[in-house]
Amino acid sequence: MSKVLIVHAHPEPKSLTSALKDFAVETLEAQGHEVQVSDLYGEGWSAVAGWPDFRQPAHPDRLTYAAESGAAFAAGSQAAEIEAEQQKLLWADAVVLNFPLWWFSTPAILKGWIERVFALGFAYGVGAHGGERWGDRYGEGVLSGRRAMIMVTMGGHEAHYSARGVNGALDDVLWPIQHGVLFYPGMEVLPPFVVYQTHRLTEADWPEIAVAYRRRLDGLFTDAPIPFRSQNGGHYDGRQVLKPGLGAGEAGTRIHLAQPGDPAEFAEPPQAVLAKAR
Ligand SMILES: Cc1cc2nc3c(=O)[nH]c(=O)nc-3n(C[C@H](O)[C@H](O)[C@H](O)COP(=O)(O)OP(=O)(O)OC[C@H]3O[C@@H](n4cnc5c(N)ncnc54)[C@H](O)[C@@H]3O)c2cc1C
Repeated sequence: MSKVLIVHAHPEPKSLTSALKDFAVETLEAQGHEVQVSDLYGEGWSAVAGWPDFRQPAHPDRLTYAAESGAAFAAGSQAAEIEAEQQKLLWADAVVLNFPLWWFSTPAILKGWIERVFALGFAYGVGAHGGERWGDRYGEGVLSGRRAMIMVTMGGHEAHYSARGVNGALDDVLWPIQHGVLFYPGMEVLPPFVVYQTHRLTEADWPEIAVAYRRRLDGLFTDAPIPFRSQNGGHYDGRQVLKPGLGAGEAGTRIHLAQPGDPAEFAEPPQAVLAKAR
């Protein structure tokens, strides 16, 4: 059985988003998984990055956040709550970010969790850098081997988030989180579980939502991840630009998904491509 971390960001325990968190805990535990929850509002998480994040600042005259973050991570002098969240991420086999969409992103408290917990040396700046190599990221990194999924509730209609929808395609709205936050330090990212038009819902809609979410939780360790191209899997040139001939017929962020028309060596899941490249 596996270990799952749910990072939950909603201020109201009776909300739909909180009910989905509770449902995930019950469902996963009933399947025999171990579950930990980081309830950011409930625990009074601070979203604010700053000096208190470092117990023994390396350069107390001027705050350069990334430099202090790297120094504190290396020295073991990060604030205790940051280290505790990193330990939970290392403990987990899968991570679920559970939140309502607020202004096309996560609530600020969850953004602050990412900024503070995804430290230099932990989530970025990992692996060899130099020449054409830009470290272990996008498919490789400290969190590789783990799965990740977003559970997001939102007011907007599904059509508004479709390929030609006025809000922009959902994949593009979630791109910074799915590709930029979760795939960057190495996690395999599953398609999101989404509840649209939440203001139209009533308690009577719950059974249908629960059935749909259970299906996704059942597949947490077996469903196919989004086929993001791995940085070090041969898809990109030395400037980290997608090589000619790849992404043909696609535009925008979709060029960074492995496609059926790719040459055979790129049409494999990122982990298989990386294993060969090593
Ligand atoms: C600051 C802000 C920014 C926003 N930005 C965006 C945006 O960019 N894009 C967008 O699309 N939307 C946006 N929204 C809308 C937002 O995404 C929704 O308000 C949110 O997803 C609703 O989730 P909730 O958990 O708060 O729902 P709740 O208000 O708690 O519940 C919604 C409905 O679900 C029903 N329900 C069914 N079953 C249950 C259950 N078991 N438990 C509890 N309730 C249940 C309730 O009866 C209720 O009517 C924004 C909202 C805010 C406040």
